[in-house]
Formats: sequence, structure tokens, C-alpha cells
Amino acid sequence: SGANISDQFSRWSAAAVPAVINHSRLRAEGPSCLFVGPLETATQENLEALYRQARKAYYSGQPLIVDDMFDRVELKLRSYGSKYVVKYPRCSLRRHSTYADAEEDPSQVFALSSVWLLILGFGTSACLVPVAYAITRAYRDAFNSSGVFYAVELFSPLSCMLFVLFGAMVGYPIASASVGALRGLWVNDLVALKGICPHCGEEVYAFVGSKQWPHRVECHVCKSSLEFRTKVVESVSAPGKRWVYGRVYLIRAAKR
Ligand SMILES: [Zn+2]
Repeated sequence: SGANISDQFSRWSAAAVPAVINHSRLRAEGPSCLFVGPLETATQENLEALYRQARKAYYSGQPLIVDDMFDRVELKLRSYGSKYVVKYPRCSLRRHSTYADAEEDPSQVFALSSVWLLILGFGTSACLVPVAYAITRAYRDAFNSSGVFYAVELFSPLSCMLFVLFGAMVGYPIASASVGALRGLWVNDLVALKGICPHCGEEVYAFVGSKQWPHRVECHVCKSSLEFRTKVVESVSAPGKRWVYGRVYLIRAAKR
């Protein structure tokens, strides 16, 4: 499909888009860059060609595009699911730091919110069950004044009140804590990220709120300082949908 791409490029240059520069002719002037048009509309094929060229140029000691652009091309290719973008830890061109990819793991946010919902359910029932019990009892007492059937009661009216009080004392803090946590999930727009530690290669996780980026963590295996940096790409085709991509940077390797 190499011929295809060059065909496409010549068509583009005809349409007054900056032309692709022929390498062999302009080698003396240093590396040239494929022009792929606006990144948003660039096809996977063209971006892959640019990515390959940029990477080759970088390793040959003549960086073709700046770090930022390289990152953006890589990000776009990742959203296409291109096989050209790698996942293993590597070096940042400019920052000279080691990093690895991190991706969103929605199942973890789901699991976390389910746990909090369960706790909320427990707290609410601790509050409400004694109240419901007290009400049914009062109701029963009012309609069964004979007291034949309910002669043996578990609780006296006083202990019934204490039961309600105790339920509220136990249940309310639990319920309000879980409501707070769930609201935090919602407000902070929490994203679960999973990636690999650039130092030891173990899988690392982090829950990162959109207002807390970048997010520092410690590798649970090698104790290196890591930083999660996240990018959120709003989907163009499906409004409201987003795609989260992050990186795990090695800040400081663990002391041995
Ligand atoms: Zn580690």
C-alpha cells in the first residue's frame, strides 16, 4: 500500500496541502516530515507512515518532530488501535524519563462503586430496619390490645427505642460516608487506570480524579515513585463519550 499512500500524498499536494518532500532529493537539507493534515482527520494509514518515519529519524539521531507532536500522533494511533504503538516501558524523547502506558479500567470504578453501594445499603438498613420494626410494633400493639398473640415480645417499648437509636448511631455514619464516597466518585470523575511500573514491570493501579492529574503513587512492589498522567479525548463521533489514555512515569527508582 506504499504506492497508495504516495498517490494520496500527491493528490493532497495538488489540492494545495503542503507537499510531501522527497527524501532522496532533499537529503542534504536534513529530515523531512510527511504531511498528514489535521491530526483529527488523518487516516490511520497516514499516521502510521508518519509515526514510523518519526521513530526512525529519532533513533538515527535526527528527531523529526517535537515530543508533543510525537505524543499526539501516538495517542491518535492508539485510539485507532494501531499495532505500531508499543506498550512496553520506553524513554521519553524530551523528558528523558522512563514511562509506560496506562489505560482505563472501567471495571475497577464499577467494582469500587458497587462496594460503596453495598455499604450504603447496609448503613441505610441499619437506620431503617429498627424504625420499621418500631412502627410495625406500634401498629400491632394498637390493633391487638388483647395481647394474647403477642404476649411474648422481644422488646419492651424502651428497648425498642434504644434499638432505633442504636441503629441510627451505627447506620447513619456508614450511610453518610458511603454517600460522600459515591458523590466523590461522581464529582471527581474518577478514572481507574492500570499500567505497568516502568521500573519493575509489575502491574500498577490508581484511581485518579480528573481534578487531581497528575497523580503520584508508589509502586506496591518495588516502591518506586510513579506519576500517572492522563489525557481524556472526547469522542468526535459519539458526543459525551470519551476515551481515556494515560502514562505511568517513573519519578524516582526505588533505593536498593
Ligand atoms: Zn515497581
